[in-house]
Amino acid sequence: MKIIENFDLTLFNSYKITAFCKRAFFPECIEDFKEIFSKYNFGDNKIIIGGGYNLILSKDYYENDFILIGESFASLTIDDLSEGIIVGEAGVSTLKLSNFALDNGLSGLETFYDIPSSLGGAVVMNAGASGEEIKDILVKVEYLDRADMKIKVISKEDIGFKYRNSFFQSNTDKVVLKVWLQLEKGIPSKILEKMESIRASRWAKQPRDFPNAGSVFKRPNGFYVGPMIDDLKLKGLTIGGAQISEKHGGFIINIGNASGDDVLAIISIVQKKVKDKFGVDLEVEQRII
Ligand SMILES: Cc1cc2nc3c(=O)[nH]c(=O)nc-3n(C[C@H](O)[C@H](O)[C@H](O)COP(=O)(O)OP(=O)(O)OC[C@H]3O[C@@H](n4cnc5c(N)ncnc54)[C@H](O)[C@@H]3O)c2cc1C
Repeated sequence: MKIIENFDLTLFNSYKITAFCKRAFFPECIEDFKEIFSKYNFGDNKIIIGGGYNLILSKDYYENDFILIGESFASLTIDDLSEGIIVGEAGVSTLKLSNFALDNGLSGLETFYDIPSSLGGAVVMNAGASGEEIKDILVKVEYLDRADMKIKVISKEDIGFKYRNSFFQSNTDKVVLKVWLQLEKGIPSKILEKMESIRASRWAKQPRDFPNAGSVFKRPNGFYVGPMIDDLKLKGLTIGGAQISEKHGGFIINIGNASGDDVLAIISIVQKKVKDKFGVDLEVEQRII
């Protein structure tokens, strides 16, 4: 397993905020995870990053150890083709996952083609779009329970999935290791068509030309975030290197050397103004570290 001291996290968070951590671990197998939490367990100070597509790094330097679950832990196989079940390690990207499903004539991951994520992160966040969520195709999850250092399996029904939320967000001592998904047989040309059309419509609306971490806020009941921000004329609001996207008011973009504080300052302004005008409490979807 690769371990790097004083590691630069800039390329490991999609806002491209520059921050360093004391030490970064790149686990390659389950034994590596066990080692990280036993041999290297000085204080309970480990932070997990999957794809880093939903994070706000609020500090310039972290005394913490970071565990980067990505390409080094990303095997992907078919568990049962007749049942459409595939199994992936937590670090596999949704891009690789959806292409793998396409190559095997399996449908169900088309929406995830354009939701940048690791498989583990998608489960933790219950990622989704257009009425589809990862929970809809999930069978079970294998995880490391740091409470007793045992490997356990939890089925979908027990994961307490809610809108952009799961059991793993309130149980941060559990590390998602492997995920089983159930897909359906499909026609490859139709699967590809759906993947491409979802991607095209999302790229037309989202500011993909600047670093960002997707929607900043969860959608509140009965309201849409973008239109409220439009109404408040907050698009283009800039603090330091962070800016509310002119293209989509629900996104904050890094227009140059944004810090976590810049992003958080914009968030507080938006929350206050939205509360004052609409009486709505906006909840941040992105994970503030
Ligand atoms: C351009 C863009 C568009 C987006 N569109 C959408 C969208 O349409 N729908 C949507 O739902 N999201 C969207 N997002 C947000 C992001 O894609 C999802 O939240 C994604 O699931 C985050 O996964 P990740 O692997 O990057 O997780 P990270 O950002 O790395 O981590 C998220 C949280 O999960 C924890 N975590 C990660 N991996 C593990 C693990 N293996 N075990 C335990 N904890 C773990 C982290 O500690 C952190 O708390 C978008 C982001 C971008 C940049």
